[in-house]
Amino acid sequence: MQCLEGKSVYKGIIMGPVAVLKKNDYQVKRRKIEYPEVEITRVEQAIKESQEQLQKLYDKAVVEVGETSAAIFEVHQMMLEDEDYLESIYNMIQTEQINAEFAVAMTGDNFAEMFSAMDDDYMRARAADIKDISERLVRNLSGQKDFDLSSSEPSIIVADDLSPSETVQMDKDKILAFVTVHGSTNSHTAILARMMNIPALIGVPLDLEHLENGVTAVVDGFQGKVIFDPDDDTCAQVQQRIKEEQEKLNLLQDLKGKENVTLDGRKINIYANIGSVGDIGYVLENDAGGIGLFRSEFLYLGRNSFPTEEEQYQAYKQAAQMMAGKKVIIRTLDIGADKQVDYFNLGQEENPAMGYRAIRICLSQPDIFKTQLRALFRAAVYGNLSIMYPMITSVEEVEQIYSIVEEVKQELEEQGIQYQIPEQGVMIETPAAVMISDELAQVVDFFSIGTNDLTQYTLAIDRQNEKLDEFYNPHHKAILKMIQIVVDNAHAHGKWAGICGELGADTTLTEEFVRMGVDELSVAPSMVLKLRKIVREMKV
Ligand code: PEP
Ligand code: MG
Repeated sequence: MQCLEGKSVYKGIIMGPVAVLKKNDYQVKRRKIEYPEVEITRVEQAIKESQEQLQKLYDKAVVEVGETSAAIFEVHQMMLEDEDYLESIYNMIQTEQINAEFAVAMTGDNFAEMFSAMDDDYMRARAADIKDISERLVRNLSGQKDFDLSSSEPSIIVADDLSPSETVQMDKDKILAFVTVHGSTNSHTAILARMMNIPALIGVPLDLEHLENGVTAVVDGFQGKVIFDPDDDTCAQVQQRIKEEQEKLNLLQDLKGKENVTLDGRKINIYANIGSVGDIGYVLENDAGGIGLFRSEFLYLGRNSFPTEEEQYQAYKQAAQMMAGKKVIIRTLDIGADKQVDYFNLGQEENPAMGYRAIRICLSQPDIFKTQLRALFRAAVYGNLSIMYPMITSVEEVEQIYSIVEEVKQELEEQGIQYQIPEQGVMIETPAAVMISDELAQVVDFFSIGTNDLTQYTLAIDRQNEKLDEFYNPHHKAILKMIQIVVDNAHAHGKWAGICGELGADTTLTEEFVRMGVDELSVAPSMVLKLRKIVREMKV
């Protein structure tokens, strides 16, 4: 039995097998070989294995995310048959007498570089695919196993760190908890854990090299501990605590279908935050009154090219339909900072959190923005959709957005395509937006306060920097005062204001938020009923 401590980012307790996610940091070494034909046969065998893996991934993806998104695996299969690519690998092995792994890695790098230099956007995006298939071939040549959660039982994911694009590809039914060596309280792993109502620990000093898949572990988010290979006594105690926690959760179920109203009659909307259509199940299960933040950028993550208008339209339409008339607030693309996507070619930045992100990308690359707006306006016909714009700092930005909205509207009109312009709001997540919230309130329909970024920009603390976690204090008076200013300015102009950052789910502040006049709290689905309980038991 081994017990390690870490920082809990979501409470809960669970026991199960461990699945270790190791990063692909395998170094390919060049070796001189004697028999080129042996290496060529190895490559052929690795191609066969890769084709089989890709077919399985395709079949799984078709069922889970549809044919369009699954098509990428077909593209990879075709690339593995490309004559130029294979010829380059075989030539290198024969003429330079080098090992198969090295020839594949070199060819992969050369081809990726060639694609990156092309003018055509589509071809440029293929560079990442070439790299992907070459890495797969190298993995198969060197006998490394693919991390495949789908074939395992529900597991505790143990990793060095998890990027948003890694988590977005995971089969959520197979995840019991997260335990990572790095990551910060506000990372997307933490947000995902809260969404899924599963325990998560970060900053755990794990030795990933020596941790075996399948070992039993206990993740205790209440005490910030992970226990590997627990003894019988510990197992018995943990089973008892899991049972007690389940009973508490069961009690909350009685609140389903009830109003979020205080004892003296003040009502508040409690909505849920989601990252994809797949999360709507959690929203319905927890009886949220709507979706207060659909982080649409997750549609852009974990893939090698832009999602098309049609793909986006289908996703937004499905969200609107599944919520059957309840409000669905979709935030436009918030790429950049911690959410990096290769095909956007954003380049390296000294200060990504204060850099080229969110609405800044949309305003300077209107084609990307227009595709998303078209999809949103078309989907708005099917339900109660609203949209909101992230990282706003000025009224001029809102005016620029409106002129692009107008162009999109004209185009849809001319093309005779059915559409609707939904309610439009902005996120208040910069101090600038707070300070001009009186002016912004006159030009938008609502405010949603993004306390994660607002705290970062107000306290000058990078939300991703784990060293600063102890300084990152969203309870800081400055933040609470800002929330009051925003709510008052919204109300002065007949608009509503909500909170969709993680602070909205902080149960020690729920009563204060209601008293401040906050109209809506949008939180992880797992928090909806907990907040409802507090609201129903308080007086203003
Ligand atoms: C926020 O900044 O509070 C927010 C809700 O947006 P995100 O966490 O996606 O940046
Ligand atoms: Mg934000």
